[in-house]
Amino acid sequence: MSLEEYLKKRNFSRTPEPRGQVDAELSHRSGKERIYVIQKHDASHLHYDLRLEKDGVLKSWAIPKDPPTVKGVKRLAIQTEDHPIEYADFEGIIPEGEYGAGTVEIWDRGTFDIEEWSEEKIVIHIHGEKLKGRYCLLRFKKQKDGWLFFKAS
Ligand code: MN
Repeated sequence: MSLEEYLKKRNFSRTPEPRGQVDAELSHRSGKERIYVIQKHDASHLHYDLRLEKDGVLKSWAIPKDPPTVKGVKRLAIQTEDHPIEYADFEGIIPEGEYGAGTVEIWDRGTFDIEEWSEEKIVIHIHGEKLKGRYCLLRFKKQKDGWLFFKAS
């Protein structure tokens, strides 16, 4: 696990985003109540960034539409670079000209537990304010970073 791509994309003398590092203490835990957060990111295109703590980092997906709060709504989720754990608390303005320029605010947060986590399929139980229940992420077969995100029950 590495934050190489995250660090490479950002100029930390200009962006207020945390530099961060892989959290060694969290990287080996298998417990419940992992960090869950969705950030509303008003960048060139408004989107929502889903972040799930796994292996000492925040696994991340960009969702172009509002995240599904009820069953029956399926959303595209594009996997993006891993983010540092500290990013879960980040809110602020990324300045113009920087990667992801725009406003970031926390849209929902809480914890989640893993039911299943494989290369193609993730099943989790989200305990947030807006998202609650059993959620599924399914990787599209022919698209490396494309996933489908929906409420399962
Ligand atoms: Mn984003």
